Amino acid sequence: MKVATFERGVHPSSHKELTENKSIINATIPEKVIIPLSQHLGAPCNSTVSIGDEVKRGQVIGVSDSFVSAPVHSSICGKVIAIGEFPHPSGKDVISVVIEEDGMDEWVDGLKENPDYINLPLEDLRRIIRDAGIVGLGGAAFPTHVKLSPPKEKPIDSVIINGAECEPYLTADHRLMLENPSEIINGLKILMKILGVKKGYVGIEENKPDAIKTMTDTASKEHHKKSKDFLGTPEPDINVVPLEAKYPQGAEKMLIKAILNREVPAGGLPMDVGVVVHNVGTTKAIYDAVRFGRPLIERVITVTGKGIKEPKNLRVRIGTLFSHLIEECGGLNGKIGKVIAGGPMMGIAQYTLDVPVVKGTSGILVLSADEVSVEEYGPCIRCGRCIDYCPMGLQPSIISILVEKGRYDEARGYDCMDCFECGTCAYVCPARRPLVQFIKLAKLELSRKG
Ligand code: SF4
Ligand code: SF4
Repeated sequence: MKVATFERGVHPSSHKELTENKSIINATIPEKVIIPLSQHLGAPCNSTVSIGDEVKRGQVIGVSDSFVSAPVHSSICGKVIAIGEFPHPSGKDVISVVIEEDGMDEWVDGLKENPDYINLPLEDLRRIIRDAGIVGLGGAAFPTHVKLSPPKEKPIDSVIINGAECEPYLTADHRLMLENPSEIINGLKILMKILGVKKGYVGIEENKPDAIKTMTDTASKEHHKKSKDFLGTPEPDINVVPLEAKYPQGAEKMLIKAILNREVPAGGLPMDVGVVVHNVGTTKAIYDAVRFGRPLIERVITVTGKGIKEPKNLRVRIGTLFSHLIEECGGLNGKIGKVIAGGPMMGIAQYTLDVPVVKGTSGILVLSADEVSVEEYGPCIRCGRCIDYCPMGLQPSIISILVEKGRYDEARGYDCMDCFECGTCAYVCPARRPLVQFIKLAKLELSRKG
């Protein structure tokens, strides 16, 4: 099988065998959910409910007037019992709405199904996606409708669906491709219609041959199932592209390089090279919103690691606490070293299990104590490994030395703002230097300065 890829990157152990053959199951509905009003990049929402209000599943509980924002909905049916600051997997405390479940689990009234969705006006499709609160489910959580409104001077000719799932341990996207391929392909067709493009791609790492086959067969089947009208022209051209299993193959810029051999310029966005990229989970959520009128109130996550008794792929309501899901998976297994929201490369270590799953949570990884070691980092020995492996061709060693000395402006000169925080440099550094953390600090200080 010919596989596409990009330069540099690493091959960490995948550990996907813990869950890759386990079907997605619905997690039990928790007794309460904590739903943060900020779950995406962009403006946080303001609460539209008060303590004591009764809410239904799918009811709006937070909105913002800002364009770069997405509304937040209740994921369960019940009563609002608190509104205030609660821990968020990002490590910050965030204003959240706490809802106690009432056992009814009814959808809010007024959700509108659209059997003939592909023929809706484009503005209606964009509005439905925005009103459904859809953001990127791959981790970055950028509001989806913003990506679907590129400026006129940046015409889009290709949409790429990211099914790479290159983070070790995580298998939620893999299972979605096996279990919901038709929804993903039809979600891709909705995206292609909105953006007016004929070329769609699904990039999948070669370590998921069953997903490559399922998605290829489904794309072919859907291709021959004519819609009444697809921009008044023949059906779109959708290709499934096998990718080398390599980290960070699922990063937007790496996917675009591997699939289309286009390079996003420094400081640029995929739309600068005519491309929009969406994750498979996001694409399914788009289909569910447009076809069935369902807002984004749940997502699939992988709960895994040696520190979990029964690793699983679960469909969970947004706002469910990590502690509830760990119990759902048989509880903790022995002495625990670290709990991470997301995968081991880009995920964030947690200090409490009382944090909720948010729209951007792709998994919960529990490492056992014997898998985690705390090591002092040393000075840079100038081995050059971080430079050799950085997919962006940056110089993390030099940036880290400048940051240690507080010379942030000079770090900007080494393009530290182009780092997308994949963690590859820190992974390969023999001196165990926290390179990505230094770079995050530089980006924070430089963005404060403006
Ligand atoms: S500098 Fe940034 S982009 Fe390069 S390897 Fe490190 S974290 Fe990844
Ligand atoms: S990998 Fe670590 S030790 Fe080697 S050059 Fe980079 S920062 Fe220095």
